[in-house]
Amino acid sequence: MAKQDYYQTLGLQKNASEEEIKKAYRRLAMKFHPDRNPDSKDAEEKFKEAKEAYEVLSDAQKRAAYDQFGHAGVDPSIGGQGGAGFGGGAAGFDVGDIFESIFGGSRQGGGGGQSNVYRGSDLLYELTLNLEEAVKGTEVKVRIPTKSTCHTCNGTGAKAGTKPSRCTRCGGSGYMRVRRGFFEMQQTCPSCNGTGTVIADPCNTCHGAKRIDEHRTLSVKVPAGVDDGNRIRLTGEGEAGLNGGPHGDLYVQIHTRPHPIFTRDGNDLHCEVPISITTASLGGELEAPTLDGRVLLKIPAETQTGKVFRIRGKGVKAVHSSLVGDLYCRVIVETPVKLTSKQKDLLREFENSLKGNNTEHAPHESSWGDKVKKFFESLKS
Ligand SMILES: [Zn+2]
Ligand SMILES: [Zn+2]
Repeated sequence: MAKQDYYQTLGLQKNASEEEIKKAYRRLAMKFHPDRNPDSKDAEEKFKEAKEAYEVLSDAQKRAAYDQFGHAGVDPSIGGQGGAGFGGGAAGFDVGDIFESIFGGSRQGGGGGQSNVYRGSDLLYELTLNLEEAVKGTEVKVRIPTKSTCHTCNGTGAKAGTKPSRCTRCGGSGYMRVRRGFFEMQQTCPSCNGTGTVIADPCNTCHGAKRIDEHRTLSVKVPAGVDDGNRIRLTGEGEAGLNGGPHGDLYVQIHTRPHPIFTRDGNDLHCEVPISITTASLGGELEAPTLDGRVLLKIPAETQTGKVFRIRGKGVKAVHSSLVGDLYCRVIVETPVKLTSKQKDLLREFENSLKGNNTEHAPHESSWGDKVKKFFESLKS
């Protein structure tokens, strides 16, 4: 079954603001929440759809990927990682945040410790490729600064042989209830910052931070056909999470360098090919460049400068598709330079030969002449 567009699911336009996305999701989540619709499969389905749409559209990077590639851009099978995909990523989205503000209650299914689980941040890496690399696909090693789980303490933040102890101020829940007049409010415990635990003896490597800054070298498979502005998502290759939270994702943003011969427009390529006056007049064959080598291009007689010839299937194969673009060659008729006096004489002789018969030899000149005449007449009237 085809998936519905995420914007449609939330009843929004493509340019919806973050606030609108949040509002739309809240409205749907309240309406279709399973607690309110106990035996409705339909409501459950709608709730799930809205949640999935929100997960993507509320995350600027995922949204950009979705806008670029549609469902494929946020599909776990893309990016060569397979595996967890949004299953893992979804943990970063905290449904509790929304329901806390809607119902003013505690987190869904929350035990105290759960609120301390953080998904690692997503990372963005800018990768510049040649046109050939983008077109044929490539595999590149990238070195990224990231945060990894501390190897010494395995992310506990405590010195070897010690353990974080339960926070005495909040009793390990990570939050405290505070009374303000009639209201009882919930507040993050200031002693443990909501972690529910206190590290008495911090790890020497991470000094209690649980993660360390390091550089990781990763191999990124760039699929054939990527274009400037595309993003590749590597699930789980972002920063490490905290307290057992999942890793973020790594996004590789593709840039391409200008090519000396070809310019790219979507899946089509364009180039300019110079031809001589003689070839243009009499017709002939010339070798046109393509990304896979040269091809013979037949130039018909009486070809004018600027004429564009299309060579089918010599463009770019679209990413994740079998569509292939075309190559457009624009011929430029060259004026000969550095002529000898003999050659100049021949040209003059040739020019004279054009005069005096009743044949029209210059198609542009005559129609251009007509236009000029009409233009000056229109000024007079
Ligand atoms: Zn450590
Ligand atoms: Zn505490």
